[in-house]
Amino acid sequence: MRPVFSVVVPCYNEEDCILATHGRLTAVMAGMGEPYELLFVNDGSRDATPQMLDELSARDPMVKVVHFARNAGHQAAVSAGMDYASGEAVVIIDADLQDPPEVIPEMARLWREGAQVVYGKRKSRAGEGLLKKWTAKWFYRLLRKLAGDAFPEDTGDFRLADRKVVDVVKAMPEHARYLRGMFAWAGFQQVPLEYDREARFAGETHYPLKKMLRLAANGVMSFSEKPLHLALWLGLLWLLAGGVTLLILLVSELMGWGTMRLGLPVLVCLAAGSILLAIWIVGAYLARVYEEVKGRPLYVVAATRGFEPKETRLPPGARVRS
Ligand code: UDP
Ligand code: MG
Repeated sequence: MRPVFSVVVPCYNEEDCILATHGRLTAVMAGMGEPYELLFVNDGSRDATPQMLDELSARDPMVKVVHFARNAGHQAAVSAGMDYASGEAVVIIDADLQDPPEVIPEMARLWREGAQVVYGKRKSRAGEGLLKKWTAKWFYRLLRKLAGDAFPEDTGDFRLADRKVVDVVKAMPEHARYLRGMFAWAGFQQVPLEYDREARFAGETHYPLKKMLRLAANGVMSFSEKPLHLALWLGLLWLLAGGVTLLILLVSELMGWGTMRLGLPVLVCLAAGSILLAIWIVGAYLARVYEEVKGRPLYVVAATRGFEPKETRLPPGARVRS
């Protein structure tokens, strides 16, 4: 039977969370009284997560598992979950219980009332450092400036999305994935639902600063060309600086002051820095273009568990393409 709800849970080394997450999700989903599936995507975990998921799928028919051949990242794991999900609505939720499953029935209610995406908006964030909160806040502001107001603030990937919207996002083949932006890009009827983000149930974040920055860069570069235009403004600025310097040099020469010599190396350093910065920006976009052109699969599936025999094959939408 086709489930009404598919809950997609990306998991990377979550052995301390899996059972608790499964328990709470099951309580919530079973309480809603409609067919559902819990779709765990094991993103190349190196701890006991894979075995625990297999055991879960052996004893709970609602559980389906997709094992990646290696770690492909959170956004790829969620994308795989959407590829394999067959529900009319897809819920995306982290495995660490930072996003409380108890919010899902309210999301479902709003969906029944006509919303096509209900995205969780973080009212508060427990257990996250000041730096993370502060950088997140400013990043979302910057993104809205660069990419437009359609990008909701304080919003992660925790959401419920209608099949229609999921199919649109699935059809977007880009590798530099910034799913929350891709959902916003899709349009449709989107409504926020405020919730308090909890602290991690156990373990540590798998989003170190480097991964955070990469996600942020994907967010900016997948949705805005504005950084590329920075070269124009830098160029104009340097033309202006050059003109002013020339003028000062001329005056200084005429008046016999001869004091401008020191300023030149400084100007040269600043100019060289700006040029390299502009080249870096072009390079960052180019690297993304290269990534897309290669057209490699987004993720590689090693095995699946709990699907009906015909589903065990890769679904047509899966991005393991030749
Ligand atoms: N995750 C993943 N692959 C990764 C990193 C994280 O599937 O390479 C999963 C992780 O198991 C969790 C979710 O993505 O379910 C969010 O990760 P995490 O809680 O570490 O990030 P944070 O909430 O600290 O931003
Ligand atoms: Mg987390």
